[in-house]
Amino acid sequence: MKVTEHIEKANGKTLFSFEIVPPQKGSNINDLYANIDPLMEFNPPFIDVTTSREEYVYIEKDGLFDRKITRMRPGTVGICASLQYKYNVDAIPHILCGGFTKEETEYMLIDCQYLGIDNLVALRGDPMKGEKYFTPTKGGNNYAIDLVKQIKNMNNGNFLHGNAEIKNKPDFCVGVAGYPEKHIEAPSLDADLKRLKEKVDAGADYVVTQMFFDNQRYFKFVQAARNIGITVPIIPGIKPVAVKRHLQILPQVFWLDMPTELILDIEKAKDNKEVRQIGIDFAIQQSKELLEYGVPCLHYYSMGKSDNIKAIAKGIF
Ligand code: FAD
Repeated sequence: MKVTEHIEKANGKTLFSFEIVPPQKGSNINDLYANIDPLMEFNPPFIDVTTSREEYVYIEKDGLFDRKITRMRPGTVGICASLQYKYNVDAIPHILCGGFTKEETEYMLIDCQYLGIDNLVALRGDPMKGEKYFTPTKGGNNYAIDLVKQIKNMNNGNFLHGNAEIKNKPDFCVGVAGYPEKHIEAPSLDADLKRLKEKVDAGADYVVTQMFFDNQRYFKFVQAARNIGITVPIIPGIKPVAVKRHLQILPQVFWLDMPTELILDIEKAKDNKEVRQIGIDFAIQQSKELLEYGVPCLHYYSMGKSDNIKAIAKGIF
């Protein structure tokens, strides 16, 4: 079922969902299940699974280094299929422009349709590790909007190399990213919002936001989006702080501000166990306010360990 249908069916009730990052290659899917199991009592209608960019590795031979490309994590589409069949939820693969040609993307989308995956999140992807700027992949999509268009073309039966004679056209529901504090590369929040509007006009069905800690930023973002005619659901993304280092990492990587009280509380904490609890308490308060505002879904970023997301969900749902 589509995310937009889940939201409609909920009839104003706020849904619970979360995002997982596939573990590094070499691990077993049972570890992932063990992480997800504790969250299933809160009935998430959908779970997002991230995709990581390819990485360079340097292989030494006779004193010379050969640069090769590798992937560090198992494939997202396969993980989504296994989650759908194990938990009977909708699992949503994040599909990236970076690292994939349009043909590779098309094959991935064909796999998604075959496996009964109804939803996709279309993203540009970040620059590769060690690179400062995003470089589009040769033969790939440049921006998320191009990927949205490719998916919507497929929904209309228009494949890359002519119209395929297929019995059932895909009918993917497409989510895109939104940034309440603007995307790091955007010249302004307004300019970024216009880009978001373009993605929605190209057919995106809903928006999921980057994490934020100040709800006012989200409220203003939603209002500004509505003012320029973006009418699709805007799902807030919430990340509980878990370690002291997040004070530096999160603003640097995700281009966000953290509220002073939260910073002071984390700085005062004697260890990361205390920080984890501060993160939980803060996320509960943040979620309660978003719930009151009437958000369609509270979407949590779970970076591997789910105990904190479970504690937050217990405090809310
Ligand atoms: P775009 O919408 O393409 O925007 C990128 C930048 O280009 C923005 O600054 C925008 O303003 C600008 N722009 C857009 N269109 C144009 C245009 N036509 N001309 C000029 N400028 C333009 N990354 C991963 O690698 N894997 C994931 O699984 C993943 N999941 C994510 C989930 C969510 C909910 C979010 C919010 C982000 C996620 N990301 C993920 C990170 C994302 O890939 C990065 O933030 C990336 O830098 C931008 O992706 P985008 O889809 O927003 O790009």
